[in-house]
Amino acid sequence: MTTFIRMIAVQCLFILFLASSSIHPASAQDASSAQASVLYAIEHVTVLPMTEDGVVLHDATVVIEGDRIISLEGPAPDGAQRIDGSGRFLIPGLVDMHVHVPGGVYLTPQEYPTQPPTVHFNTQDIMTPYIANGVTTIFNLGANPAHFGQRDAVENGDVIGPHMALAALIDGGGQSGRIANTPSDGRQAVRDAIAEGYEFIKLYSRLDAETYAAIIDEAHQHGLRTVGHIPNAFQGRLEGAFETPLDMVAHAEELTKHTENFSDDDAERFCQLLADSGTWLTPTMMVMERISSQSRSLDSIRESHAFQYVHPLFQSKWLTANQYNENSTPERTAYFENMVDFHRRLVRVCRTAGVPMLAGTDTLTSGVVAGFSLHDELELMVDAGLTNEEALASATRLPSIWLGVDSDRGTVDVGKRADLVLLEADPTQDIRNARLISGVFINGRWVDRSTLDSMLADLSQRNTESRDQYDWNRIRGR
Ligand SMILES: [Zn+2]
Repeated sequence: MTTFIRMIAVQCLFILFLASSSIHPASAQDASSAQASVLYAIEHVTVLPMTEDGVVLHDATVVIEGDRIISLEGPAPDGAQRIDGSGRFLIPGLVDMHVHVPGGVYLTPQEYPTQPPTVHFNTQDIMTPYIANGVTTIFNLGANPAHFGQRDAVENGDVIGPHMALAALIDGGGQSGRIANTPSDGRQAVRDAIAEGYEFIKLYSRLDAETYAAIIDEAHQHGLRTVGHIPNAFQGRLEGAFETPLDMVAHAEELTKHTENFSDDDAERFCQLLADSGTWLTPTMMVMERISSQSRSLDSIRESHAFQYVHPLFQSKWLTANQYNENSTPERTAYFENMVDFHRRLVRVCRTAGVPMLAGTDTLTSGVVAGFSLHDELELMVDAGLTNEEALASATRLPSIWLGVDSDRGTVDVGKRADLVLLEADPTQDIRNARLISGVFINGRWVDRSTLDSMLADLSQRNTESRDQYDWNRIRGR
């Protein structure tokens, strides 16, 4: 493709403010006027704190003041807004550890040299599917300047959305972006990213081995954690990538691409490399499951309930410019299917080897819908052999530890941020119960089921009404 993307944070925010005040029935501005230091009490609730000891609190009263949990005991203080928790279960807000977020303005200057068409992403629309699914923190693995504006809009209460951790991506090769082809370039790229405010470093596939090691070393010297792909330079010598290890491998297939026969011995070898080096794994099993499905047919996208909540530009891309479907052959489909099966075995082996695993989805890849897909990943993790509690930990306590925010969130405890999900049924009995959300607290703001439903309905309606305006192939000049 001969297009490029430019991201302009200021314009993005401007559009956000234009759009969010009048159109949305449950707009952030309506809610923010009612949020200041409100006192809530969730009564008679079963709390699954997700602390390491696995303790469960029965018939608890959870008191929230401002953005904090101030008590796990009754009675409800005077003046508190009471929420009936009887028969319900309270868990920490969920974390998706691998997402990509539309941000800024997409331009195609080659096709429209004088007045390029622009696509503005409304931040509330991008964030609604996360919140509606109980996702209160996301890890953006391809952050750009527009995402700082989105993050700030959430944190200052203008948008109801998840906290966003920002990773700067560094790659090798010759194309646009943050490129480093020598160790000193790599170290400078890390220092630049830090100066710009990024909190994590993502390493990508075309880095050479020496630059890869230098980037990780420089990031660690500055106290930043690293995440990423394993560069192609380590093909045939995977062990070399673990001499200066990443803090987290971002996909199971970063390992899978180093095996040809998908053997159990290879799964053992990969998990041992992770365990010995202290590297965590975000398997993102569901994205390979989606790719495998799309290489057969796009029906699963069309029939997906969640598809209506995807921005129409990406609806168009997934259906009309789908690389996994267009280039499909029976051999390729079989290869993807083998990978899906191998990932299940790999996750099972890594669990036994004690490798910490985190729930992530690669949201925005074709067929992977924000928020909804995290629940698909949790089901796949359980299917691969994690207990329901372990799967929940992979999306609550453990990612908070990896992100370095565990003193603030990730468990239900006094003093912790009130990022919480109230469920209609027990997710430790069946992980699918984590989808049965009766309401979400984000930064101490209560968003109940009817508000979540009206936000979703509104988003779906506007996506559907504007669908004809977004033709991916025209807009991106394909
Ligand atoms: Zn990704």
